[in-house]
Amino acid sequence: MSFASLGLIDPLLRTLETLDYKTPTPVQAQAIPAVLAGRDVMAAAQTGTGKTAGFALPLLQRLTMEGPQVGSNCVRALVLVPTRELAEQVHESFRAYGASLPLRTMVAYGGVSINPQMMKLRKGVDVMVATPGRLLDLHGQNAVKFHQLITLVLDEADRMLDLGFSRELDAVFMALPKKRQTLLFSATFSDAIRAMAAKLLSDPLSLEASPRNTTVKKIRQWAVPVDKKRKPELFLHLLKKNRWGQVLVFVKTRHGVEELVTQLAARGIAADSIHGDKPQPARLRALERFKAGEVKILVATDVAARGLDIDDLPHVVNFDLPIVAEDYIHRTGRTGRAGASGEAVSLVCADEVRQLAAIETLTRQTLERIEEPGFAPDHRVPVTNASGEVVRKPKKPKKPKDAKVVSEDVRFRQG
Ligand code: AMP
Repeated sequence: MSFASLGLIDPLLRTLETLDYKTPTPVQAQAIPAVLAGRDVMAAAQTGTGKTAGFALPLLQRLTMEGPQVGSNCVRALVLVPTRELAEQVHESFRAYGASLPLRTMVAYGGVSINPQMMKLRKGVDVMVATPGRLLDLHGQNAVKFHQLITLVLDEADRMLDLGFSRELDAVFMALPKKRQTLLFSATFSDAIRAMAAKLLSDPLSLEASPRNTTVKKIRQWAVPVDKKRKPELFLHLLKKNRWGQVLVFVKTRHGVEELVTQLAARGIAADSIHGDKPQPARLRALERFKAGEVKILVATDVAARGLDIDDLPHVVNFDLPIVAEDYIHRTGRTGRAGASGEAVSLVCADEVRQLAAIETLTRQTLERIEEPGFAPDHRVPVTNASGEVVRKPKKPKKPKDAKVVSEDVRFRQG
């Protein structure tokens, strides 16, 4: 299948050629004709599926073909995203795909001055990519008007709810024209997302997409049981032993992120970080450096890392398990892209056994436990099956042996 057969216009096809996009991904093949036809779409798609082009290309085409000229302070297509990084990234995609079209695009998020955003809006914009909070600020100051709006896109809708944007979203929905096209993209579909979809979408095309050129099976996933206090030491050990190149490391808290970066620096290992406390330019710089391969280790919180487009990442380390089991899927989605194989390693301590069970229930698989020699914890905890049920009761602790796959029990030291 070709992009031309999906009904895209020549300027877009030429741009895709320059970007070396040869064939549409499954989500693009399904979403592009539907969006062009003005239909609502509800898509289960995570980063890596090509979802951004799936909505951006047909939207750019609709805006080009349909007119009218955009009025002062008006927005014709609104894309709501959960984080600043994703806002930048999605906006960059619109710019790249729309390079040959006479459309105005802008990005708006909090943490930076609102004035340039207000200035930009004065002339009106065809596509606005925004986080919900800043969009409401702009709306509250009458800097943005929605009567020309034809399409609303909710990107990573599940994450927006996870981050507590539900009230902001409701306020935005109230301000939008009822007659419009709505596209909802979400990696996971909880009851809350389904309720939101039922409220916002009319006769939507529902589609589900697996990551581009890869299946989850290509990602080798395992857990290393370890005492909490020894996690930094174990991480360093694994880094050296396995000679990992680029690694994205997930840590639960902002404080934890900085602590690990400092501990690595003390051992002469350069790492960068992204988390909510970092000023926006510093977060973007860290991401750029990591993407360019200048920094090999990026330590991040879930919030800051969500939706980042980092291709072909060989290793993801869950230094801490995520509180929300769905985040495990988002995290591991960073590796094994584009047909490359990947590894996702979780360092699991006794405190995290419940989280581990929740992850195994959600992903319907048991994570293989592999002890690292010299790091085996003392106390055993039950092994759960893929439904999160205990399949083995704890046994009395034995002396740790050499490295082996622990298929029956996992040993942990409490605390
Ligand atoms: P996304 O899922 O939208 O975050 O896209 C993931 C990555 O795939 C981005 O780096 C895109 O540039 C790339 N991409 C999207 N669609 C295609 C395609 N049809 N062919 C090649 N690369 C693509």
